[in-house]
Amino acid sequence: MSGQMLVDGSGNESHLRIRAALSDGAVLRFVDQRTFGSWAVDPLVEVSGTLVPESVAHIARDPLDPLFDRDAVVRRMKAKDTEIKRVLLDQTVISGVGNIYADEALWRSQVHGRRRASALTKPALGRLIDDATDVMRQALDQGGTSFDSLYVNVNGQSGYFSRSLDAYGRDGDPCRRCGTIMRRESFMNRGSHFCPKCQPQPRR
Ligand SMILES: [Zn+2]
Repeated sequence: MSGQMLVDGSGNESHLRIRAALSDGAVLRFVDQRTFGSWAVDPLVEVSGTLVPESVAHIARDPLDPLFDRDAVVRRMKAKDTEIKRVLLDQTVISGVGNIYADEALWRSQVHGRRRASALTKPALGRLIDDATDVMRQALDQGGTSFDSLYVNVNGQSGYFSRSLDAYGRDGDPCRRCGTIMRRESFMNRGSHFCPKCQPQPRR
């Protein structure tokens, strides 16, 4: 190893937590200013023909993954006798879809989040996956969705997708498709935002 001073992007090494010397001579440094991160030694296990760390093997692929199997996910969703929004947020079925993107995808598909996944047709479930994928892709293009000034890119900018939201946070505002006043209801300790006309609620 060289005795060279190792620095992070901010020009100091005070946040350097771990320095590992690899067998090929490279040095791997773990710089973690906010101490949210951690390292673990994890065996690799095979999932769908690829090796992944065992501790994340239960997490399903996200729709932007080249190996994402849309038809298989549609079948898994169709088999779930629970609310469709709960299924969208279930990382063992599909990953990458958080509360905001679930609300956006459901609005685009004109499906209420409390409808049963098993009661939706396979084409409708496929369209919902496609809508979620489009939302994620558009959000990525705009730098993500950030409401917190702490979460910024390397240029200090927040994500701009929050300005493009059609459902999330728009309760009290007119639906951009039909003009009906949007509503919010509690769901899984979060908020669900929907148009009561475009996304009719299922009977309780
Ligand atoms: Zn509407």
